[in-house]
Amino acid sequence: MKKIILVLILIIAASGCSKAADSGKPQIYTSFYAIYDFASEIAGDKAEVYNMVPSGTEPHEWEPTVRDMAKLNDADVLFYNGLGMESWIDSVQSALDASGLEFVKLSEGIQAGDDPHIWLDPQNVKKMCRSITDTLCRIDSENSEYYEENYSNYSSKLDALDQNYKDLISGIPGSKRKIVVSHQAYGCMCSAYGLEQVAVEGMSAESEPSPAKVEEIINYINENNIKYIFYEELVSPKIAQTIAGETGCELLPLDPFEGVSDSEGEGDYISVMNTNLENIKTALGDE
Ligand SMILES: [Zn+2]
Repeated sequence: MKKIILVLILIIAASGCSKAADSGKPQIYTSFYAIYDFASEIAGDKAEVYNMVPSGTEPHEWEPTVRDMAKLNDADVLFYNGLGMESWIDSVQSALDASGLEFVKLSEGIQAGDDPHIWLDPQNVKKMCRSITDTLCRIDSENSEYYEENYSNYSSKLDALDQNYKDLISGIPGSKRKIVVSHQAYGCMCSAYGLEQVAVEGMSAESEPSPAKVEEIINYINENNIKYIFYEELVSPKIAQTIAGETGCELLPLDPFEGVSDSEGEGDYISVMNTNLENIKTALGDE
């Protein structure tokens, strides 16, 4: 990172810090795919929105390149999640201190403990979109009515999604509301809907579980009569497959909506979350 910052200072010095957007529209950068999707919903065609993390990449492990830093130097706003999702944010913020780039942390004011995956509760997404809308209205006040209308339409969709989850999960007996997942991303979803998660890997999706942990999960599956293990496109399914083999469980996808894989293409939050709900229904519903 130090090397990147040094090169960046040279780029800034050479470019003279001028903001040059060809389209004249606000230039909005987002720190990973979920934030990109939310910002795009509000911005519509009135601002240019960019996702910094390339497809097929797990955002927990990603860091910006020199080229990314140069792009940020010319941007108006960077929307990011916070709560440790972007390990690089502090050094980038101090390196770009003089660039005029505004950093907007979307987890501000959201209670989530130490779980950064706040967007897996649609009510939190409404709050994140409120911050996005306020920022866009401020930097591009001419289009504020347009942004407010997008917010209002999108927040109705988020309420409907939230209701779908409540309706379905309230019909599942409490003793069956247990999910085994690949990385510990579903804390906010679980507390919103009364589910319980057991994760094969940690919160940042890179830690391999110990043999003792694997054994513990196998026991949990057997004791709770669990039939499905959830996996993710961007995390290796190797351990989930091993556990499935040991327990006779089947594998089902559950997407934490952190990034997009090359094979999936771009999905939007509402449709991904509805697909997740279908898979939860398969896993927890009647046999
Ligand atoms: Zn994660």
